[in-house]
Amino acid sequence: MKRASTDGIEIPKEVLAVSSALQKAGYENYLVGGCVRDLLRGQNPKDWDITTIATPEEITQIFPHAFYENTFGTVGVVNDEATDESLKVVEVTTYREEGTYSNARHPDKVSFSKNLGDDLKRRDFTINAIALDGNTGKIVDPYDGQKDIKDKIIRAVGKGEDRFEEDALRILRAIRLSAEIGFEIEQNTEKAIQNKAKMLEKISKERIRDEFSRILMSDEPKKGLELALKLKVLQYIAKDLERGIGVEQNQAHKYDVFEHNLRTLQHAADKKWGIDLRLASLFHDVSKPETRRFSKEKDDYTFHGHDVVGGKLTKKILTELKFSSVRVEKVAKMVRWHMFFSDPEQITLSAVRRLISNIGKEDVWELMNLRICDRIGTGRPKENPYRFRKYKSMVEEALQDPISVGMLKIKGDSIMKVLGIPPGPKIGYILHALFEEVLDNPELNTIEYLEKKAGELNKLEISELEKLGKQGKNKKEEEQEKKVKEIRGKYFVE
Ligand code: ATP
Ligand code: MG
Repeated sequence: MKRASTDGIEIPKEVLAVSSALQKAGYENYLVGGCVRDLLRGQNPKDWDITTIATPEEITQIFPHAFYENTFGTVGVVNDEATDESLKVVEVTTYREEGTYSNARHPDKVSFSKNLGDDLKRRDFTINAIALDGNTGKIVDPYDGQKDIKDKIIRAVGKGEDRFEEDALRILRAIRLSAEIGFEIEQNTEKAIQNKAKMLEKISKERIRDEFSRILMSDEPKKGLELALKLKVLQYIAKDLERGIGVEQNQAHKYDVFEHNLRTLQHAADKKWGIDLRLASLFHDVSKPETRRFSKEKDDYTFHGHDVVGGKLTKKILTELKFSSVRVEKVAKMVRWHMFFSDPEQITLSAVRRLISNIGKEDVWELMNLRICDRIGTGRPKENPYRFRKYKSMVEEALQDPISVGMLKIKGDSIMKVLGIPPGPKIGYILHALFEEVLDNPELNTIEYLEKKAGELNKLEISELEKLGKQGKNKKEEEQEKKVKEIRGKYFVE
């Protein structure tokens, strides 16, 4: 009997418990799919799937905590005690046979089987069609998936054309897997993908979106999308990106628009930044092709308005792909404002404030990161990190609430009321005098203390009070300067 060598990765006890409970009740069962593939690669599986001869009813009888996940015979066995998220639910699925597909989407009917071989036959790739008996370590591998794992190859089970015809999502799964685990797609499988790419028209946008997102979130999204392009699949994800191929740019750029978009995305992935930034990076220059003009004056290309047009187009593309409206709005906004002018020698704090009000406080730092990716993506990033750091320090400065008497727990009108005095310069003196004290001792910023202290100040000569008020004002300005200095220090700029 062949035993699995799982490179030191252990099958968790929660999974083994499900497996042995089925076994004890007399039901043959195996770990299968991505978890076996990942175990054999020496990687930690993301989720655990068990396939079994038991029917869904039989499975639910064994596990009182189980629930039907869908109409395809999958039962979720719940492990309430599991701390690891991936172990909270172990999916147990009855052996299945491929039904007929009349629409390349879903089988017309699911038929259960009593035979593991049938179940492995319907799986997409050889590396996903290996069964592992969790109790004994026995491996069933009719398509030589272990060899393909060793050789790092993604190969369709059976005839690729037929398999992609049955379910075209497998085309995207192949590309996504390749981006995620760095395996190459085997030649015949590649050919079959090219031949059947058109079938993706029938796949729901949600399913395309999910695989697309996983390509973006992989370590190698650039490679993944290049592969999608080569296999004629990219047009079914985001056709507009392809228009950037061969669109030469101005002298600051080394690459065409398409390559630049991909490199910008890749940098976001290298930095492990999130999906919003990755989407914005990929689409930030999507509208350069239609806005490109040749300027005789500059003797170079210009792309006026590509940010505005691109923001709208990005919104359309992501909406069609059924991304959530929150995500669509945020990404489109980043594309819209990605061209912000950031030379700190030429702009003022109020220009920075305007940008912040356009992009929103919550997203301004992501926009800064988009600029970083964009610069790296040109292939010729100009060496001006000092100016960019300076710009970021201005952003942080603009985000600060100003140091002002407004920070006091007591306001001018309540001072007038409590002390019974009319409006006039005296109120300002009192506020500033109080403020000076609070700047030194923030714990004094309470209504009780400030009311009491205001009463004392009110008894002073007006000239004395005016002096205290001025001191308070100066102190406020000093504090403001100190704060700005601190921010600049943080960015190592003057
Ligand atoms: P991961 O869990 O890393 O996303 P996975 O390969 O486990 O990868 P799942 O979606 O969890 O992907 O599917 C589990 C298994 O089910 C796969 O390994 C494969 O054997 C099979 N499978 C999933 N989707 C399909 C499909 N569209 N066609 C054929 N088999 C599929
Ligand atoms: Mg899985």
